[in-house]
Order: sequence, then structure tokens, then C-alpha cells
Amino acid sequence: MLAQRPEGVPGDDDFDLVEADVPEPGPREVLVRTRYLSVDPYMRGRMRDEESYAEPWAVGDVLQGGVVGEVAESNHPDFEAGDTVTGNLRWADYAVAAGDDLVRVETGGVSDSAALGVLGMPGRTAYFGVTDVLDPDPGDTVVVSAAAGAVGSVVGQLAKLNGCRVVGIAGSDAKIDFLTDDLGFDAGINYAEADVADALGDAAPDGVDGYFDNVGGPITDAVFEHLNVRASVAVCGQIALYNEEGVPTGPRKLHTLVEKRARVEGFLVGDYAPRFEEATERLVGWVQEGEIAFRETVVDGLENAPDAFVGLFEGENVGKQVVRVESE
Ligand code: NDP
Repeated sequence: MLAQRPEGVPGDDDFDLVEADVPEPGPREVLVRTRYLSVDPYMRGRMRDEESYAEPWAVGDVLQGGVVGEVAESNHPDFEAGDTVTGNLRWADYAVAAGDDLVRVETGGVSDSAALGVLGMPGRTAYFGVTDVLDPDPGDTVVVSAAAGAVGSVVGQLAKLNGCRVVGIAGSDAKIDFLTDDLGFDAGINYAEADVADALGDAAPDGVDGYFDNVGGPITDAVFEHLNVRASVAVCGQIALYNEEGVPTGPRKLHTLVEKRARVEGFLVGDYAPRFEEATERLVGWVQEGEIAFRETVVDGLENAPDAFVGLFEGENVGKQVVRVESE
């Protein structure tokens, strides 16, 4: 439960673990036993008492997010006990959902938890962000921030499939090795060690044609300095700012957009709902064919979900962060 509204980076006192009876599913409802739950950066926004695209939680609400689970009991004709499903459910061992809001997990032999990552919302975000918003040409240089995370790791590989030179920005040498050795990125910049603006001179010698922005702040300022004429910027997220209490400071280099006649476009994956099936099918195909690799960071235990969530802001995850919940 959300115990109180966090100030800055959330801490232990902001969450409560409570016990309650397993709920009974009503007509057309399904009782789901949680196996994996997703922690996502956007949840920080729901902890604030502010209007946004995702409704704010009230203090005392049970947190909610992407879940993969097993149907324990079904009053819906499309599901029976034992089915593996995914949906937006409560952070709980068991949760009830309207059957109409659940989707059967179809990962084509890939792990079920991938339905929360590469084959789920983050994978689809990368897919629509690259194909529809950034829309790079072969030979373009594409830069992605939070490159070793759930969205960023797929973005870079999709840009490679489009024939681009891909540069990833992430927070450790181990993450940069993952990008270049395992995912086929052309270059990586560890922003914790290097000056990003300087390092981009070497990593993107022909300038930046496409920037997939997951972080905002000083990293985005540095990338803007290297944009080419008619560059595209897809603004996916601004995680560097989510825990800020004051007025955010970046991006501050907007004059470069004028000089470079660059296009900056924000987007929300939810707007592409009518095309989710297309994205999932293509992502499943790429993963099965070995064109897209993925990694997950797994934390065990529902009680550790808040730590896993906070870890996103400290860069503890490589690939998609999931929480494994093995209740009986
Ligand atoms: P990730 O798996 O990428 O996890 C977050 C990562 O962000 C961390 O691993 C960390 O990596 C990096 N990070 C954290 N704080 C900072 C900081 N201050 N500066 C730079 N990097 C930081 O999360 P997701 O892939 O789920 O999400 C990535 C972004 O995409 C987020 O901004 C999210 O809000 C956004 N998003 C947007 C959607 C949309 O529809 N527009 C949908 C889904 C996600 P590191 O070690 O490299 O710092």
C-alpha cells in the first residue's frame, strides 16, 4: 500500500505491507495468483497528488501494475484455472480482475515474465517509439539514453535492425559491455564516468540524427549539442526528473533545436493500443529469431517490490526489473 506520498526518492516509510483475505471473484471476474509483477518508472508519477495521464493513487491505496499470474478461479468464459494471464492488477499475492481486462500470455515459448518486458509494455514502447516517432533511415546515427533498461535495450536493437549506427548511454561499465557485447550497439557512454558531450564527439562522429530520450536533464542537454540538421527526438520519459520536488531544470539547450531545425515529439505507448497485437507479434518473432536479445533483473518476494521500484532510480536493473512472487 502507499503509506504516504514520497518526497524525493521514495523510502521504506512510504510503503506498507498488509494482510487481508483472498478476495472472491464476482460475475465475469477472475482470481489471479501473482507470479511476476512489474515495477515501472511511471509509477512515481502516480504517487504524487497531481493530474497526469495515469491517475494518482490515494494514500492507503494498494499499488497496481503489470502482473503475470495464474488463474486460480474463473467466473469468465474465456479463462479457466491454470491459465497464464497478464493485466494491470494490485501488488498482492492474489488479485481479482474483470476477465475482460485480462489477456492470455502468449510469449511463443519465451519466458512468461517477458510479457512484462520485451514482449510487453516496455517492448511496445520501444517499437512504436522507434518505428512511428523516431522513424530513422538506414545509416542514421541513433542515440538512446537509459540504454540498458527495459525500453532502451529494445530501442537500440530495433534501430540496429533499421541499419542505423547506435550509441547507448547508461550508468556503468558493466551496462556498456552489455550494450556493445550482447546487444550489438556500436558504442556506449558511461555517463557516471565520462562527460557525455565530449564522449559523443567520438561515439557519434557524424552527429546525431535520432535521439530516443528516456531520461531528460543534463544527459539530454549533452545530446542536443550533437544533433544534426533535421534531427528527430522522441521523448519517451524523463526519469532524471521524476523525484525532483522543484521546477525541473532541463532541457536547457533549446536554441540548438532552432539551429538544427530539429523535431521533438513526446509520445505515450497507450495511444497505440489498437496496434498492440502488431507490436507483440513482431517482437515475439524477433526474439524467437535471435534478432532481439533481452535480460531481466529479478527480485524475489512481494515485500521487496518497493526496493525493486526504488532501484530503478539508482540504476540497479539491467534490462527489465521484475518481482517474482511465489505465493501458495
Ligand atoms: P528502465 O528499465 O530503463 O529503468 C530505469 C533506468 O533509468 C535505470 O536502470 C537507470 O539506468 C536509469 N536512470 C535512473 N535515474 C537516472 C538519472 N537520474 N539519469 C539517467 N538515467 C537514470 O526503465 P523503463 O525502460 O521502464 O523506462 C525507461 C523510460 O521510459 C522512463 O523514463 C519511463 O518513464 C519511460 N517510459 C515511457 C513510456 C511512454 O509511453 N512514453 C512507457 C514506458 C516507459 P542507468 O544505470 O543507466 O542510470
